[in-house]
Amino acid sequence: MPSVFIKTYGCQMNERDSEAVAAQLVAKGYSLAPSEAVADVVLLNTCSVRDMAEQKAIGKMQNIAADVRRHRPDVVLGFMGCMAQSRGQRLIDQLPDVDLVVGTQKFHRTADYLDEIFSGRREKIVETGAEQGSEGAIKEHILNGARQHAAPVTGFVSIMQGCNQYCTFCIVPYTRGEERSRTMADIVAECRELVRGGVKEITLLGQIVTSYGKRDIPARDGKSAFVQLLEAVHEIEGLERIRFTSPHPKGYGADLVEAYALLPKLCPSAHVPAQTGSDRILKAMHRGYTRARYLEIVRQLRRVQPAIGLTTDIIVGFPGETEEDFAETLSLVDEAQFDNAYLFKYSPRRDTPAATMPDQVPDALKEQRHARVLEEVNAIGLRRYAEQVGRKAEILVEGPSKKNPARLMGRTRCNKIVLFDGGPRHLGQLMVVNITRAGSFTLYGDPAG
Ligand code: SAM
Repeated sequence: MPSVFIKTYGCQMNERDSEAVAAQLVAKGYSLAPSEAVADVVLLNTCSVRDMAEQKAIGKMQNIAADVRRHRPDVVLGFMGCMAQSRGQRLIDQLPDVDLVVGTQKFHRTADYLDEIFSGRREKIVETGAEQGSEGAIKEHILNGARQHAAPVTGFVSIMQGCNQYCTFCIVPYTRGEERSRTMADIVAECRELVRGGVKEITLLGQIVTSYGKRDIPARDGKSAFVQLLEAVHEIEGLERIRFTSPHPKGYGADLVEAYALLPKLCPSAHVPAQTGSDRILKAMHRGYTRARYLEIVRQLRRVQPAIGLTTDIIVGFPGETEEDFAETLSLVDEAQFDNAYLFKYSPRRDTPAATMPDQVPDALKEQRHARVLEEVNAIGLRRYAEQVGRKAEILVEGPSKKNPARLMGRTRCNKIVLFDGGPRHLGQLMVVNITRAGSFTLYGDPAG
């Protein structure tokens, strides 16, 4: 059977989709190749959120076509994911070496498409149609894949696909389609299976997880479908920690805030995308909340979980963003005191309303604002991480550190990475460490007794 290499761009949802496709192919007898240089099938799972991500994937495919195809003409090359969905046949027109283009609702059919190519039944395949039920097709896991040192202790579970939010900057509703949620029973069964395989921490994934089940599952006792799902997953014996990403600020009703107090397995950490601190720009982005409401959510979360780890997404240079608007973003970052933030320069995306709005911000100004807000985020992050020194923290040890495999890496409940000198007996353990030092968005620790 052939071997496959999948390279993933973009978000955790893409990582999860790639893992499921890889697991589906392994179940059919494929092996996983360590790199594109030796694989029989090379798939790039793409992201369209910003132009840079698309250009990276196209550049990578050009290099693979030039290097790999030249030496091994039978290698099958394919694009999957968001850019495959939005560009379809145009990718093959532009890069004739590409054999396969798999859209976001067709991931689970990748093995069938490869069969058709290998058997010669079809030469080139572009499949980007909508498919009912595809939200339930991302469920296979590779339980002893990438990290060979131990079975994984953390697992990611896709609870829904698509997005109905239609933020004016965002391409996701067009590439991922309408929101479609899996059934709660199906999700809980997948989580149980992971826990049976040794997983101790589960992250529930979706473009906007807080919208889970909105159309299909009625609120019960004032609890949204998403909070009901958290409660159902919380019941799983042997599961120690629950996380989710990413929520929408609109989803932080009293029920979700309260869940942080009532569900001990729900980790006190939240990635709550703010995007901007300016009410004028929030409105133009079609975000559906105000700056005051956002900061109220931050206060409410800190009231129930004072040490909660908070991160966010910020876009600088949205069309029409003035110095005053940008100053509001800086002051929001300052008021919210995020532990970390993902900062993006606004990237016009085709067919989104913001791409044709007047007063597009010049690149040089986006660059300046990005550097300015990065400085602020780094300064706050440094201080917040330094505050942890001298404290104890419970970590779940995930495996060797990526940069220095002699060290182990774990995560605190508030989602901060801790590196420490440990041994094989620590792998997969929940343990308490003394925090001895803080680096840039990393903590260093010593096993405590
Ligand atoms: N759940 C998130 C939310 O509340 O909007 C959406 C996840 S989105 C795929 C990830 C992040 O990419 C967004 O939060 C946003 O900051 C950034 N992003 C999306 N479109 C962008 C664009 N056109 N330019 C720059 N950044 C963008």
